[in-house]
Amino acid sequence: MVHFVGAGPGAKDLITVRGLSYIREADVIIYAGSLVNPELLKEAKSQCSIYDSAYMTLEEVLDVMYAAEAEGLMTVRLHTGDPSIYGAIREQMDELSKKGISYDVCPGVSSMSGAAASLRAEYTLPEVSQSIIITRAEGRTKVPSGEELSKMAAHHATMILFLSSGLAKKVKEDLMAGGYEPDTPTAVVYKATWQEEKIIRTVLERLPEEMEREGIHKTALIIVGNVLDGAYEKSKLYDKTFTTEFRKGKEEGI
Ligand code: SAH
Repeated sequence: MVHFVGAGPGAKDLITVRGLSYIREADVIIYAGSLVNPELLKEAKSQCSIYDSAYMTLEEVLDVMYAAEAEGLMTVRLHTGDPSIYGAIREQMDELSKKGISYDVCPGVSSMSGAAASLRAEYTLPEVSQSIIITRAEGRTKVPSGEELSKMAAHHATMILFLSSGLAKKVKEDLMAGGYEPDTPTAVVYKATWQEEKIIRTVLERLPEEMEREGIHKTALIIVGNVLDGAYEKSKLYDKTFTTEFRKGKEEGI
């Protein structure tokens, strides 16, 4: 059996309880060495075979899984954050399915949640933005037409850009071309929840210079939107006049 496990954003204790118990039971671990905290590997059994997928192709990763299966061993495929977001797990799962190998997925804390915690931010504020656009700037990996940053910008929703920290100038230009104001609040979180985390709070127009100044070119999220600053409405859920399934609202003035 293969367990795809989300390792969380970085801090060792931000893996789920389930994910940690799979690591402790695993006979084989294949981890994404560029972003998974190696401290987690100390939890593995001493006889566990450990592979860093940063140096491996898809075929090599699959071959390790097939060999483990042939011996009846349990494999953990450890991905950064939550595996469902830019995790490249589908291509692995499809090949396992073809071979009749069973697998499951253990979710993880995405770096976007880690970054929100580090920023002490709420991505969805009433009257400001009730939507989150998770996307990336187009680089070597193409983005389907209709998902260009300039088109996404038209929504003025909270935008979280993965895999784009080397493309800050393009992010700024495309979002401004799409209608984001130059002074839209913007944050960069580098290595969210790791010891070496760095936070930049700026405005969209200044994004490339600020990232250059801090020397941030990878392992960062760019977050853009008015939720990072400014006015908002309080949530209706906790408003004293609002009736919910669990609580009867009181009339104004009582
Ligand atoms: N599945 C992961 C994302 C993998 S794609 C998740 O849910 O977080 C890799 C990209 O994620 C990086 O280029 C960077 O944009 C972002 N990333 C991953 N870990 C990060 C962290 N600790 N802090 C900031 N960004 C991170």
